[in-house]
Amino acid sequence: MAIGNFQGRAVTSATNPRAKGECDCCGFWYPLHKLQAQSAWAGTQLIDTGDLVCPGCLSVPQQQNRSIRLPGDPRPRTNPRPGRDAANAAIGGSNNRASSTGVVSDTNTLASGT
Ligand SMILES: [Zn+2]
Repeated sequence: MAIGNFQGRAVTSATNPRAKGECDCCGFWYPLHKLQAQSAWAGTQLIDTGDLVCPGCLSVPQQQNRSIRLPGDPRPRTNPRPGRDAANAAIGGSNNRASSTGVVSDTNTLASGT
């Protein structure tokens, strides 16, 4: 009863013997020198996953796992002068004022006493 070929895709040579290895992805046996390290994106760099895979299972690292490197913020202006209209719009209008906690309160609501 034939069970199968245990050598997989690795060929044994009597004159030039080489080590065999199992692909970590498909499980077939290949000559060890044909197995390649699988890499993957982690953050902003490629890392070795530790898997040795055959040429058929070797995949291109997914770009979606790569972190986006944003450029730095621009340098702020020293002593800016945005103008009165722009400053009032930033805090919610001319009738509103910002408190020390950053909460914008409406002065008309406070004056009515409700
Ligand atoms: Zn494979």
